Amino acid sequence: MRASLLIVGQGLAGTLLGHACEQAGIAFELVDAGHAGAASRVGAGIINPITGQRIVKSWEIDALRPLAWETYRGLESLLGASLVREMRVRRLFRDDAERRVFAEKRARGELAPYAGEADGEGFWIEGALQVDTAALITAARARWVRMGRLRDGRVGIAEALANHETVIACTGAENGDGRAWAGVSCARVTGEILRVSVAGLAPDVILNRGHWVLPTSEGEAKVGATYARGEADSRLARLELERSARELLGGRRFDVLAQESGVRVTAPDRRPLAGYDPAEPRLGLINGLGSKGALLAPWLARQWVDHLTKGMPFDPAVTAGRFE
Ligand SMILES: Cc1cc2nc3c(=O)[nH]c(=O)nc-3n(C[C@H](O)[C@H](O)[C@H](O)COP(=O)(O)OP(=O)(O)OC[C@H]3O[C@@H](n4cnc5c(N)ncnc54)[C@H](O)[C@@H]3O)c2cc1C
Repeated sequence: MRASLLIVGQGLAGTLLGHACEQAGIAFELVDAGHAGAASRVGAGIINPITGQRIVKSWEIDALRPLAWETYRGLESLLGASLVREMRVRRLFRDDAERRVFAEKRARGELAPYAGEADGEGFWIEGALQVDTAALITAARARWVRMGRLRDGRVGIAEALANHETVIACTGAENGDGRAWAGVSCARVTGEILRVSVAGLAPDVILNRGHWVLPTSEGEAKVGATYARGEADSRLARLELERSARELLGGRRFDVLAQESGVRVTAPDRRPLAGYDPAEPRLGLINGLGSKGALLAPWLARQWVDHLTKGMPFDPAVTAGRFE
């Protein structure tokens, strides 16, 4: 018999939602077209508590970081894979203006408890995490395929609604039949990264000034990520990332092993999307994770489960209805 709930898409959003449903005993099926175009296959999975040129704490980081940590640790045990690591970020100042902004915000206590020691070059950000999102979706997919819960293939939203009572679209950049984003006019932002070989990096330190260098395994790192709205130029992206790698790696030799790209989805107010399509009460979604999917997905999945099991409303900051 078919489950009344179908989750369409098994990137980070669909994986976290499926996991939360499973934990809560909610019956569901998953369908996914393969991870070749999934942002979760390419993304770095960094949860950085202090980000951006304005040097601000990530939205809701204090509340969401503990939930993310607990959720990914639970998934590690379930899937028998290493998925999440505690990291520090060495954030380097671009110029004097950034130095001043940091000093003022720190003095006002706006960056606590994450801003650590500082010197003339930059400061340390404590409490960062890194989630191996590619390993997570791969391991979860293999398990659900074994359990007969995940079907490989592409499904239209209309077709899914015809066969299931409730459909939750977790389709990332693919706005299936133009309906998977609940009518919200989201932007697609292409991001590119380089995989490089480089020796001698501290395994738990992310280097960051605009771009970042993330050590991934002994002798390898990722360098990322670019932001391009509309048509992306891979050649320029590579030059840009190579320049940042030279600066951040301070003279260490590196070789480019590969270049990869993915597409992030961002709602007009840069907040994520969860809840129902205002025009179709049986169609839900999780999307608009932007560049913060690793932090946001566990929280949005929990909201869905609280809604399905206890009828709790979604946080008004994330519903699609906020744009009406
Ligand atoms: C270069 C880059 C760097 C990034 N770095 C970070 C970072 O450091 N930290 C962070 O938190 N986030 C980062 N992100 C963002 C993060 O990767 C995304 O927010 C997240 O992966 C989005 O997950 P998703 O499940 O919404 O979409 P996706 O991962 O794209 O998954 C969507 C899935 O749905 C499937 N699908 C779509 N349509 C259908 C259909 N009709 N039928 C069946 N299946 C369908 C697709 O095949 C795919 O598997 C980065 C992204 C990029 C591109």
